[in-house]
Amino acid sequence: MTSPQQSENRSGGRTLAYLAGIPADKVKGIGAVSMRKLSAQGVSSVADLLLTVPRRYLDRSQLFDLQAAPLGEDVTVGGVVTSFSKRRISRGRTMVEARVSDGTSSVRCVWFNPYIKLVEGEEVALSGSIETFKGSLQMKSPDVDRLDRERLAVTGRVLPVYPGLGGLGPFKVREAVDNAVGRSIPIEDIVPAAVLDRFALVDRTSSISRIHLPDSLEDVEPARRRLIFDEFLRIQMALKVRAHDEFESQIGVQNSVKGELFDRFIGSLSHRLTGAQSRVLEEILQDMEAQTPMHRLLQGEVGSGKTVVVVLALLTSVESGHQGAFMAPTEVLAFQHYLGTELALVDAGMAPTVENVGAGGTTSLFAEEPLSTRPVRIGLFTGSRVTTNFVSGDVSRTQGLDWLVDGTIDIAFGTQALIQEDVDFHSLGIAVVDEQHRFGVEQRVVMRDKNQGEGVPDLLLMTATPIPRTLAMTLYGDLKMSVIDEMPPGRSATTTLAISETADGEIDASIQKAVAEGRQVFVVCPLVEDSEKIDARSAVTEFDRVTSTLRDVRCELLHGQMRSDEKSDVMSRFRAGDIDLLVCTTVIEVGIDVPNATLMVIRTADRFGLSQLHQLRGRVGRGPFGGMCLLSSDPTTPDGERRIEAMVQSTDGFELSEIDLEIRGQGTVFGGSQSGAADLRLGDILRDRDLLDAAHTVAVAAVQDDPYGAFVTDVMHEVAALLGESTQWLTRS
Ligand code: ADP
Ligand code: MG
Repeated sequence: MTSPQQSENRSGGRTLAYLAGIPADKVKGIGAVSMRKLSAQGVSSVADLLLTVPRRYLDRSQLFDLQAAPLGEDVTVGGVVTSFSKRRISRGRTMVEARVSDGTSSVRCVWFNPYIKLVEGEEVALSGSIETFKGSLQMKSPDVDRLDRERLAVTGRVLPVYPGLGGLGPFKVREAVDNAVGRSIPIEDIVPAAVLDRFALVDRTSSISRIHLPDSLEDVEPARRRLIFDEFLRIQMALKVRAHDEFESQIGVQNSVKGELFDRFIGSLSHRLTGAQSRVLEEILQDMEAQTPMHRLLQGEVGSGKTVVVVLALLTSVESGHQGAFMAPTEVLAFQHYLGTELALVDAGMAPTVENVGAGGTTSLFAEEPLSTRPVRIGLFTGSRVTTNFVSGDVSRTQGLDWLVDGTIDIAFGTQALIQEDVDFHSLGIAVVDEQHRFGVEQRVVMRDKNQGEGVPDLLLMTATPIPRTLAMTLYGDLKMSVIDEMPPGRSATTTLAISETADGEIDASIQKAVAEGRQVFVVCPLVEDSEKIDARSAVTEFDRVTSTLRDVRCELLHGQMRSDEKSDVMSRFRAGDIDLLVCTTVIEVGIDVPNATLMVIRTADRFGLSQLHQLRGRVGRGPFGGMCLLSSDPTTPDGERRIEAMVQSTDGFELSEIDLEIRGQGTVFGGSQSGAADLRLGDILRDRDLLDAAHTVAVAAVQDDPYGAFVTDVMHEVAALLGESTQWLTRS
């Protein structure tokens, strides 16, 4: 790999990667002290300065004379500070007052912010609404930007306003950026002209110079778009390169037989696959047949029928002469998948007859059988137990591991226990990882390497949490996507109604009606016990309430603070139908499947997140009786209101996940430092989704056409130089 320095002057300009190697204090006006302050804010190189963009712009042609400014509208005025004072008012608050004149008139400004500090004679721009107060002009808490005359004299109509950075004032930042821009342009454009043409993007030198020194406001947007495209491109390219290096350039295990086990299993199903299941299965089988290993994410909501698809993929690997592994984040989930598959194999007549051999059973127990009669042997590996479907009772871990290495076990289910160092497979053909966002990237790679046989196993990740497309592209852009976006038929939709938090009577009547029909009910509360700080219903109080108002209804309480044996006791009695009404917290969110439960009441529903509400609602309407969800709340915020509204209008998890992203914004959604997505400074995956799409398309094509060519290499230099350590996992080693 060539070093970034060598990229200087490929076509007369310097590259951003090169500029990222020049410390910011090489710029005139930045000394050791400023450098320390900037570094603390993550601005340490010349490239970082170039990418420190103005917070906003003041268009001087849009500045109003005070005398002519319209009242009561958002306007910007400019002038000189003629007086400034600060005083303490009641309850420790400080009132700051200033008068600003522009020659046509003057305005009195007040702020209740002790940190506002202005100097008489200073030139400022004020943005906000002007009103009249006792016959003179006044602005309450306007935004204030300091201008300096020098600058006003040299710039055009549009004045960039920079953020202060770590104690460096906006002027100082502006001066540093100006000097950096002056020293750096022209900047070499590493993106081919054809790409820029196709997506109507300006070149890099224009984007950097116009974002900082626009001739007019119209210059700003194209410049921003190019910078945002570049941000997305770096992330998409890094993801694609990783996918190429770890998967697409590797030789995969040959999973190519689609035959008897597959047909026997599919023939045993009491239902036909949905269109979505068939499509997704075809995508998976094509990947499995391909030379290169599969690296795919399967998305589908709970109940959409992922299990059938996954079992068919696992069986395909088994009949190709390999083994499958299925990894889940918790013991409970691993056990559920194991049990579900065990039962499905029994139904399909494909389960082994259980021989009562103890640990140390002989391997000759399983002579080669023809596929037409061959049973499928599965095992469960968790921290606490190892069990199989071909000997009764649990076996020792050592025994289980032996059966994995010699190929006796066809499919292994388990938790992290499956990727421990002592685990080896005879020939792992496919690894399925459930709820992959809880597994790190490293685990994917470990799974990939767990193979004694030839080739890299196929990898299928699956999740029941709908992820908006743009978010998936940014977080999991290295994966191919399959989406089951259709529910199996025969499921009656759940009706959702919003009611007031005070509608206890209505709620009780609905509960009574459902119970009278023999159905069961959940009432979910955001709190376990009442809280002084949070105004919301609690499970304990709600339980007391319903036990007194609904005397003939069998109620129980379930929440996370109960002992686990109490919890499982309540759960199993609810499953058995011995409890009519369960008053609970979100402990019921995952893995409760009670087809007889038809009514879900969610109290103070605006306190829950949208995806959580959707998950909760998914607990009802799982049987033939239909479902009803009552959201009781009196939302106190616009966001709370939007969430409730969205729930009433849509039952589509993907649609809701998009709305959730809109409400919450990408910052909170990305969370942690899971990927380069955290490095988005300007780009917004919702607002700028066209640019994200463009960057994705460009990266896919580039890595496919010429994975080691100049374009890919140049972008990867930038990734290494600009995104640095935090995203080392993204970059080529
Ligand atoms: P998921 O794993 O996505 O949560 P499952 O595979 O467990 O969903 O399927 C949920 C339920 O739907 C199961 O009872 C399953 O038997 C049933 N099912 C799956 N596919 C179909 C289908 N095509 N038609 C009817 N029922 C189906
Ligand atoms: Mg393959």
